[in-house]
Amino acid sequence: MNDVAHRSFLDRLAQAVGRAQVLTDPQETAPYCTDWRRQYSARAECVVRPASADEVAQVVRLCAHEGVAVVPQGGNTGLCGGSVPTGTRREIVLSLARLNRIRDLDTLNNAITVEAGCVLASIQAAAQASGRLFPLSLGAEGSCQIGGNLSTNAGGVNVLRYGNAREQVLGLEVVLPDGRIWDGLRGLRKDNTGYDLKQLFLGAEGTLGVITAAVLKLHPQPAATATAWIAVEAPQRAVELLAALRARLGDRLTAFELVSRVCLDAVLARVPGTRDPLGAAHPWYVLAEVSDVGEPAALAASVERALTDSAESGEIRDATLAASEAQAAALWRLRETIPEAQFRNVKHDVSVPVSKVPALIDEASRAIERAFPGGVVYAFGHIGDGNIHYNVGASDPEANEALMRGRAAVNAVVYEVVAALGGSISAEHGLGQLKREEIRRHKDPLELELMRALKKALDPAGIMNPGKVI
Ligand SMILES: Cc1cc2nc3c(=O)[nH]c(=O)nc-3n(C[C@H](O)[C@H](O)[C@H](O)COP(=O)(O)OP(=O)(O)OC[C@H]3O[C@@H](n4cnc5c(N)ncnc54)[C@H](O)[C@@H]3O)c2cc1C
Repeated sequence: MNDVAHRSFLDRLAQAVGRAQVLTDPQETAPYCTDWRRQYSARAECVVRPASADEVAQVVRLCAHEGVAVVPQGGNTGLCGGSVPTGTRREIVLSLARLNRIRDLDTLNNAITVEAGCVLASIQAAAQASGRLFPLSLGAEGSCQIGGNLSTNAGGVNVLRYGNAREQVLGLEVVLPDGRIWDGLRGLRKDNTGYDLKQLFLGAEGTLGVITAAVLKLHPQPAATATAWIAVEAPQRAVELLAALRARLGDRLTAFELVSRVCLDAVLARVPGTRDPLGAAHPWYVLAEVSDVGEPAALAASVERALTDSAESGEIRDATLAASEAQAAALWRLRETIPEAQFRNVKHDVSVPVSKVPALIDEASRAIERAFPGGVVYAFGHIGDGNIHYNVGASDPEANEALMRGRAAVNAVVYEVVAALGGSISAEHGLGQLKREEIRRHKDPLELELMRALKKALDPAGIMNPGKVI
């Protein structure tokens, strides 16, 4: 495109959102154009920062008119390269960061209406201030935004009890690819009036429209929380323990996370201020959290009883129960800092039925050892949801780099085991650019055809986040 047309496009964007909110200086746009893992980086024509749904609509309308692609961006913490440009055509990054108002909080309907750019932690804080809980919780909660969470259908640590991001939503406001605003911001718990359209945009990774606001469910704020760090012999024991604790504690069991000794060692070596909570080393650990609205002492007693029963029946090797909030936070830190403690290796975010997680870990580890002798497996994650982050690296830096270069071969080994167990190659992170090609080998052709039909119906010009998902 010629310079005059480009200037005129930028001028019209500036009329919509204000000159200061159209960034073109490469130094200013760079952070928006590189993903969190620094694996994807490409120039965009500009970064546009609207402050309202109307401004988003104007920007999208302009882009639709010019045939410019729109890359919606929240906190840019996504792990699949979905939130950054591809560099293959004219693109703008549409940052939602300035749409950050809480529009309404209705305690009697247990619902909160928020704009897409609200940082997840700020929604949790607003809920807490009104004596409620917004349960979505993940390591990036201080930076990720609710629009990104809903667009990736994020999971996190409380899915076991409360479900993933999709399950927190009552209504949505979305700017469609032609610039019209769909107002589906209804706070209804029952609404059987045809297709549930909001579901289309949840987990769509910005390929069908821009989420500008959402009505989210709130829950009672637990008055008591018990956090336990539990050593087990093997993943099979962890799965049995999950069943036993659920039988003993019911749905008060809120989180159930698996950590291998290899992951714990990485954290202890690289994250300052961390220490092993148990005296001796064990091959596997579970971080379990139980919460309730009742008395803290009563909850602690019933968790202690449940753990004693489990120890007596041989399900666990050792355990410690946090005696204070600070101790609970220290236990969570061991889990939450695993991603940064093993930053550079070949990542997998896979799921299988919970009962098959032990087979996944055993079979994939054997296959990795056969194909890449000396490969180190970092397995951890949301075992209560059947979702394991199964990462593969090597202790020797050169061997590690070789694995990174040949990551497609590592992926193939892991995904073959996942497929044989009826699992998914993306449990909670999405597809983005990272798995767009790979998914074609793993998803039913009919499902892919239906996805393409939906994309074509909603975005016939293909301007919404092209090069991602499908
Ligand atoms: C340390 C760390 C821990 C993490 N832990 C977890 C975890 O436990 N569980 C989990 O699921 N994820 C986890 N993630 C991944 C990431 O935080 C989530 O995917 C999160 O939901 C992304 O939100 P975001 O605002 O950063 O979105 P972005 O990265 O900005 O965008 C993600 C995708 O959503 C699209 N998008 C963003 N906003 C909108 C919008 N308003 N409308 C339409 N499309 C939009 C983007 O185009 C992109 O495709 C973690 C990431 C880090 C860095």
